[in-house]
Amino acid sequence: MPYVAVDGKLREECGVLGLYGRGLDVARLGYFGLFALQHRGQESAGLAVTNGKEIKAHKGLGLVAEVFTEGDIASLSAIDAHIAVGHVRYSTAGGGGLANSQPLVASHLRGHVALAHNGNLVNSDKLREELEGQGAIFHTTSDTEVILSLMARYRQSGNENALVQTLTHVQGAYSLALGTDTELIGVRDPYGFRPLCLGQIGNEGYVLASESAAIDALGGEFLRDIQPGEIVVIDERGARFRRFAESPVSACVFEYIYFARNDSTIDGLNVYRARQELGRQLAKEHPVAADIVISVPDSGTPAALGYAAAANLPYAEGLVKNRYVGRTFIEPGQALRELKVRLKLTANTEVIAGKRVVMVDDSIVRGTTTQILVKLLRQAGASEVHVRVSCPPYVSPCYFGIDTPSSAELVAARCGVQEMCALLGADSLGFLSLVGTLAALSPAQAPACVSCFTGVYPMSIAKLKTEADLNRKADDWGDVRG
Ligand code: AMP
Repeated sequence: MPYVAVDGKLREECGVLGLYGRGLDVARLGYFGLFALQHRGQESAGLAVTNGKEIKAHKGLGLVAEVFTEGDIASLSAIDAHIAVGHVRYSTAGGGGLANSQPLVASHLRGHVALAHNGNLVNSDKLREELEGQGAIFHTTSDTEVILSLMARYRQSGNENALVQTLTHVQGAYSLALGTDTELIGVRDPYGFRPLCLGQIGNEGYVLASESAAIDALGGEFLRDIQPGEIVVIDERGARFRRFAESPVSACVFEYIYFARNDSTIDGLNVYRARQELGRQLAKEHPVAADIVISVPDSGTPAALGYAAAANLPYAEGLVKNRYVGRTFIEPGQALRELKVRLKLTANTEVIAGKRVVMVDDSIVRGTTTQILVKLLRQAGASEVHVRVSCPPYVSPCYFGIDTPSSAELVAARCGVQEMCALLGADSLGFLSLVGTLAALSPAQAPACVSCFTGVYPMSIAKLKTEADLNRKADDWGDVRG
């Protein structure tokens, strides 16, 4: 389970990055690579680099562009490093703090390590208790530190073996990028909840990233996904792969639906193509007489295009997104939440007025965004608003790395579709079925974790986590990210 800090908030949803290459400016490349993963976390960013003798890190709260100055990058570049590990983290408002920012960096007699983690461990509290009982001291409230602490116990056997031994203890979701003095190591948990892939950069360099889009952004060449239950060790001899666990494979369906970038390919399935297919299925399951199909940009757009194509309806840009509004510091409350949505998305009257509109979004979580958007479309003169959602009702919290509010705040956990439709003020509401979702994603190699739609989890979490752990204020969550 993700470590629940004193403030009772969970904080996950992250992107990890690793670079290896002599003669490469891994610090600067790492910095650029983090921009490509920014959508996976906007609360903190960090980069650690090592030249084998010295390790240097810079971390901060905020977006990549806010955290690093040119001077910070120059100072990281200055040590002529050949290994870099980077991280972006999403956390709830005010949570986390600098101490929990990653990569976590540790030094011991045998050298340095920098660790970046995407996912949640479900047994970290128990492990932490045991380790503390044995005298371990923790500097953060992050579950990731448990991995470092365990590794330190096994360090006599060398980094790679210490890591493998550590992994026999930890349960949950983890995609890791770990830098030592001599190696860059990537790990994907046996379920493969979170993505992780490897690319080549330059003649002999490597880039490890949560998403292939980051490899593309760095001008690298995609080599392959790290398989669930697999480790990749990159050193001066090249890249070696090693399986450390049998893989029950359960990759996260929500990466395809909402979380990953449209231009990433995960486990052989391109996210854009997957979203278009989800939209096509949605049109088959929930057709409606309408004039135009619009999307909630950006993550709803491929599904809307798929819907429009399958329904033979024109697609139009009915909602316009302001790309320059990042995180907004607006105090809670319905009126301001509405303002926050309006800041990011406005209805284009020219497109909407007098039209029967199908609005496609990738997911409804709290329902706040949809409710406000339906209102905006009506104000812009829509004669009908039909909401179509390219996934099933989101009814259960995620314990494996997607930031989710408690079930009490999940609108689909409280209401049936009819009731929700009334609440949203829409003329009709249709969710893609689970069967349709899985059919659309079938080209992916791994069977998916769909626990957010079913409440059935791929591993036991019952004793490890209670709803109270997820109980946080409604206003801490609900960023309108497209
Ligand atoms: P809501 O207003 O709570 O229903 O938010 C739904 C919107 O948030 C959808 O348009 C999604 O694109 C987006 N969304 C879905 N899941 C998440 C998440 N875990 N974190 C942030 N945004 C999300």
